[in-house]
Amino acid sequence: MTAGVWLAPDAEAELPMLERPIHFYGGGTSVTELAPHSYRDHLDRFGARPSCRGAAGAALIRRIEEAGLTGRGGAHLPSAIKWRAVRAAAGAAGSVIVANGAEGEPDSRKDAALLELRPHLVLDGLVCAAETLGARQLVVWLHENAHAARSAVSRALAERVAHGPDEPMIRIAVGPDRYLTGESGAVVQALSGGVARPAFRIVPSAARGVDGLPTLVHNVETLARVARLARGEDCSSALVTVCADDTHVVLEVSTSATVQEVIGRVTNADEPAAVLIGGHGGTWCTSSDLGKLTLDEADLRAAGLSLGAGVLAVLAAGTCGLVRTAELADFLARQSTRQCGPCVFGLASIAESTAELARGGWRSRRDADRIARFAAEIKGRGACGHPDGAVRMVGSALEVFADDVAAHRRGRCLATGEHL
Ligand code: SF4
Ligand SMILES: [Zn+2]
Repeated sequence: MTAGVWLAPDAEAELPMLERPIHFYGGGTSVTELAPHSYRDHLDRFGARPSCRGAAGAALIRRIEEAGLTGRGGAHLPSAIKWRAVRAAAGAAGSVIVANGAEGEPDSRKDAALLELRPHLVLDGLVCAAETLGARQLVVWLHENAHAARSAVSRALAERVAHGPDEPMIRIAVGPDRYLTGESGAVVQALSGGVARPAFRIVPSAARGVDGLPTLVHNVETLARVARLARGEDCSSALVTVCADDTHVVLEVSTSATVQEVIGRVTNADEPAAVLIGGHGGTWCTSSDLGKLTLDEADLRAAGLSLGAGVLAVLAAGTCGLVRTAELADFLARQSTRQCGPCVFGLASIAESTAELARGGWRSRRDADRIARFAAEIKGRGACGHPDGAVRMVGSALEVFADDVAAHRRGRCLATGEHL
């Protein structure tokens, strides 16, 4: 496991948010030498948060635009566009800003690490956004079982209240511990008194969101970066979770680092057989696909990839990629919120067919054609991007593990050598 973390050649120029890797073993609590920042530690390290009212707020939006800041959900919509839309729509009743820390991606731990260790950076970003966009409601949205993150944020809020009377009121709200609870439409719906699940929206939440007010929902890492930009700092790093075997390691890395370098910092495998980029709804790649690919979103997008929730999941040696894909497809099918027919029936069919392939039950090309048909029927037809992610993940597996698909058809697995 790694000791170093910071991969930027210009490391001296930027103050990292996390100076050390954070390990999570077996999905449990974090293990790190880093101590959580108290408000005093935070002020000593990063300095006081500047005001973002009036002209300073307009300047912050320009900095966000120049920095090319986008959300972390994979949609890549520039944050500056969302900020301007909320600012334009906010009337006398104000707007709502949500720091979204409901980390639904099972292999991601970056939001947990940030909230547990550097909660004040997230809260600073939340207040910067609120001042810029005239917000009256500031919310931190979490999974109900994210106990460590919730305690850290509660403690941080208490410290800020004790620090001075001018601190705005921030509340914590929680939703069920499910994959889609952090989807932005689900967040808006839940905070408006509904069920935390995605919804078809004609008017974007930037114009009409929580309780009909213009609403900005940003991932907590995005808000931490806003806090850095408001202080006039560069912010070219990204938080990623590298998942290998039963360990998750959160690293802060330069986006100019290559995917291979980042994985190499965590695993001993020089060339893992395959890596799933972007989380459960991401894309399988081989080492040769990765080449010199960097973590820069533009670089990834040009290759048809996205970092999504910032997950690089390494396929363990001796593990069948098709079996792993079947497990993921089954998980994604079960996480559907069962509102849209193509998602409910299509995902279940894709998951069943993939499980059959993993068991060696495919006998002809018609099986692959059947998956392609389901995929074409559901792509782009859900209220959210969930089914598209599932289709992408399974489709990439059929390409990356094509040799094993052929071997499974003949009743043998190339990865394990077993007869099926
Ligand atoms: S597309 Fe699927 S997950 Fe998304 S809202 Fe519809 S049923 Fe739910
Ligand atoms: Zn196999």
